[in-house]
Amino acid sequence: MNELAEHIKLEYGASIRRAGKTADGWCVGGAVCDYLAEESDWGNIIDFTIAGHRRFPDEDRMTELLCNVVGVSYVEGQDPTKVDIGYYVSCIIGYNDEGNFEDAWAMVSEMCTELGLRKCGECDRLYGNVGKLEDDARTSVGMKCGRCAYG
Ligand SMILES: [Zn+2]
Repeated sequence: MNELAEHIKLEYGASIRRAGKTADGWCVGGAVCDYLAEESDWGNIIDFTIAGHRRFPDEDRMTELLCNVVGVSYVEGQDPTKVDIGYYVSCIIGYNDEGNFEDAWAMVSEMCTELGLRKCGECDRLYGNVGKLEDDARTSVGMKCGRCAYG
């Protein structure tokens, strides 16, 4: 499993639920959103101020949020990256709704690998292969962002 996905799973795995059962807990998608997003990423997404919507986001909101996180604009069907994100989100939420959490996490893992998502081991900054997260040091220094690798 992808290292970042594994890390998120370890932090939230025990709290994962299907949507609508209880007010507490998270769906896999909500856990991923909570871990990856900064407060500013949520800002323009209506209703994410309601706690339950952050913990159990629907497909459109989660796709839009992840587009904000990686820094691509969300216009359906135009950019391969957006299509990829929408595809992964749909699978993650679909598996979670079936109670198939392992397959949901497997899709998180594929998505993180596909987008090259990593957290810097030194400064905790998220970086990857796409949009605003693109970081040219990613291939040479492992789990360290370019800023930390090159000062
Ligand atoms: Zn760093």
